[in-house]
Amino acid sequence: MDVLIAGASMAGLSAAYWFARCGHRVTVVERAEGLRPGGAPIDVRGRALGTAERMGILATIEAEKVSIVEPTPVLDGTGTPVASLDLRWFANETDRDVEITRDRLNRILHSVVPDAVEFRFNTTLTSIADGPDGVDVGFVDGRQARFDLVVGADGLHSTVRRLAFGPEENFVRHFGYYVALVDLPAGRDWQRAMLNVPGLTIVVRDAGDGPQAMLLAASDEVDYDHRDLQAQRKLLADLLSRVDAWQLPALREAFADPAAKGFYFDAVSQTHMPSWIQGHVAVIGDAGHCAALLSGMGTTLAMVSAETLATTWTECGGHMAAASPIYHERLRPYVDQCQAFAHEGAPIMVPATQEALDARNATFREYAARFAARTPG
Ligand SMILES: Cc1cc2nc3c(=O)[nH]c(=O)nc-3n(C[C@H](O)[C@H](O)[C@H](O)COP(=O)(O)OP(=O)(O)OC[C@H]3O[C@@H](n4cnc5c(N)ncnc54)[C@H](O)[C@@H]3O)c2cc1C
Repeated sequence: MDVLIAGASMAGLSAAYWFARCGHRVTVVERAEGLRPGGAPIDVRGRALGTAERMGILATIEAEKVSIVEPTPVLDGTGTPVASLDLRWFANETDRDVEITRDRLNRILHSVVPDAVEFRFNTTLTSIADGPDGVDVGFVDGRQARFDLVVGADGLHSTVRRLAFGPEENFVRHFGYYVALVDLPAGRDWQRAMLNVPGLTIVVRDAGDGPQAMLLAASDEVDYDHRDLQAQRKLLADLLSRVDAWQLPALREAFADPAAKGFYFDAVSQTHMPSWIQGHVAVIGDAGHCAALLSGMGTTLAMVSAETLATTWTECGGHMAAASPIYHERLRPYVDQCQAFAHEGAPIMVPATQEALDARNATFREYAARFAARTPG
C-alpha cells in the first residue's frame, strides 16, 4: 500500500523504516532542505529501546551515546557557584536508557531507512481530501497524488494535524516555557555550567559535538509567527535580558548571530488529542502527543508511536477502522505516563521562585554528598 509521511525527523524516519519493513511503498516529504540539524542531546528510553533493538540500531545508538563524565556547576544570578548537578543522580526509566545528540540519532535512523523509500525535501503538502478509496493529497508544487495512508510526523506545529484534524489551538497546550538552543562558536573557552535565576535556566555544555547553549525560560504564551526567525530572536533577546552576569554578553551575541549553527527556538508545549487517527490520516510523535521537552520522552514516544502504528495498521490489513482502537489501546497509557513526566522536570530544571531555587540547590548539594559517599575513589 502507498503511505505518505510528512516530516523526516525522529518520528518520520522511524515511520519510514517501519512502513517500508512492513512491505509498503513509502514517500517522505520534509519541509527543510535536508534532515534538520541541531538540538540538545535527547533520550532514548523505556519502550524505545525495544523499538531500537528491533530496528537493529540499539548497539550503534549505545556506541554513539553521550557519556556524562562530570557534574555541571550550578551558578546563581551573579555567576557564583552554589551547587552542582550530576545527571546520574536521576533514575532513568531503565538502566539502559541512552542520551545521544539529536544529529547523531537522526543520522542513525536515516541510515536504516530502505533505499526504496522516496524522500522529497524542500516540500510539503497543502491539502488533504480523505475519501473511501484513499487520501488525495496536494503538494506545494501543484502535484496531486493518492495514498492509502497519510502520516503526520511533522512536529508540534503539524500541517497534517491542521489539515485533517483542526487548528493547532484545539490540541497544543503551552506548558509555560520557551526553549532556545545554539551551537557556540569555537575559538573561545566557554565555561560549562548552568546558571539559574527564578524562571530562567541557561546551560552551556558540550555533549561531544562542540559547545552548545540552551535557554529555558518561564513565560506566558506569546502570539508570534513560529516560523519567523526575526520574531523568535526578538522574543529570545527579551528572555535573555532577565540576567546579566557570567558569559551572558557573549551568549547573547551567539543567540543573535543569524549565521549561528544549530539555532532553535520554540514554545515548550504538549499536544493532547482525543484520537490520533481520522479516517486514513494519523499523527505520530510531537504532532500527535508532544510530551514537552521537560519530559525527556519526546523522542521515545516518536519512535514507539511509529513502530506501533505501522505494525498495527499492517496487522489489520490496512483497515484503519479496525486498527485504530487497537493502536490507541497500545499507545495511550504510555503517552499519558510520558506526558506526566514533564511536570516532574519543570521544578528541577526551572524553579519558579527564589525559595524553590534555594530548596532545589540544597537538594543538589545533599545528592552530591550522598553520591560522593557511594562512589569509590
Ligand atoms: C531543529 C530541532 C531541534 C530540536 N531540539 C530539541 C532538543 O534540544 N531537545 C528536545 O527535547 N527536543 C528537541 N527537538 C524536538 C524533538 O526532536 C522532538 O520532540 C522529538 O524527537 C519528536 O520528534 P518528531 O519527529 O515528532 O518531531 P520533530 O523532531 O520536531 O520533527 C518534525 C519534522 O517535521 C518537519 N516538518 C514540519 N512541518 C512540516 C511540513 N508541513 N511538511 C513536511 N515536514 C515538516 C520538520 O522540519 C522536522 O524535520 C528539536 C526539534 C527540531 C526540529
